[in-house]
Amino acid sequence: MEPEKALFQQRPRLRREFETLRAMTRLYCRARHGGDGKALCPECARFLEYAARRLDRCPFQENKPACAKCPIHCYSGEMWEQARKIMREVGPRMPWRHPIRALRHFLDELRPVPKVGARPAPRRSKTESSESANASS
Ligand SMILES: [Zn+2]
Repeated sequence: MEPEKALFQQRPRLRREFETLRAMTRLYCRARHGGDGKALCPECARFLEYAARRLDRCPFQENKPACAKCPIHCYSGEMWEQARKIMREVGPRMPWRHPIRALRHFLDELRPVPKVGARPAPRRSKTESSESANASS
């Protein structure tokens, strides 16, 4: 998991998010898949890798809102389901296991959610100017 650390080197907000997610995934894997709390099973490792990629490409970057409040759902259906399972399972335990992370995440949830309109609009292929001007003649 070292490459991810380098991935978020200049982005403390995203790195913190990733580390919180990793802590939660480890707790979940240990509880559900008999992991040792450090190494992840293949399924959880795949999820965390996917999550790191999504964070890396988050359009909001350092202004990112908490994922639960984000207007853009960038996870695939399957991965979103996995994220929900993890949150539901270990979310309530986070204040005890990782009080600082839980507190900071709580503060992140209070951040204003950026407008989706602030995203660069997708390029539209330029259509030929239609002949609709003289529709009713
Ligand atoms: Zn697992």
